[in-house]
Amino acid sequence: MDVLERLRAQGVRLTGSRCRLIAGIPRDTPFRAEDLWKALRARDPRLGRATVFRTLAVLQQVGVLERVQRPDGSWCYRLCMGAAHHHHLTCAACGRDEVVDGTPLADLEAALGRVAAAYGYEPARHDIRLLGRCPTCARAAAACGVQPPEPGEPPLFPGRP
Ligand SMILES: [Zn+2]
Ligand SMILES: [Zn+2]
Ligand SMILES: [Zn+2]
Repeated sequence: MDVLERLRAQGVRLTGSRCRLIAGIPRDTPFRAEDLWKALRARDPRLGRATVFRTLAVLQQVGVLERVQRPDGSWCYRLCMGAAHHHHLTCAACGRDEVVDGTPLADLEAALGRVAAAYGYEPARHDIRLLGRCPTCARAAAACGVQPPEPGEPPLFPGRP
């Protein structure tokens, strides 16, 4: 199901300007509302800032957009059609962001449930974000002679090269 189909199914009214806005949303990269507005305004000078912000808020409400925090601490949006529960892997250097395959996380999910139960809590929500350095940034860092972590430092992602 694509974004527009999903919005229609959820009863979101889709005007022409909303459709153009949705078409302009970056697919795999987090973005700031302000930047999206500036990019779209270049093609559609009459597009109002408030329209963009309002539409993004509606998309977040229906679960098509997520608010994600950048490595620098600022907040932005990310288009995410992921399943109900999922996690993201974010490059701490450039902000690239992936929805990860949750299969290897099943043990972790179960362990978190046991931790909550040990304190007598109902199974709680959790919010886990993996931060790392994406292949592109890792290559760039290697080319600049940036040192890899000292031997003995724990790897960020055990099991990954
Ligand atoms: Zn997501
Ligand atoms: Zn990166
Ligand atoms: Zn989880």
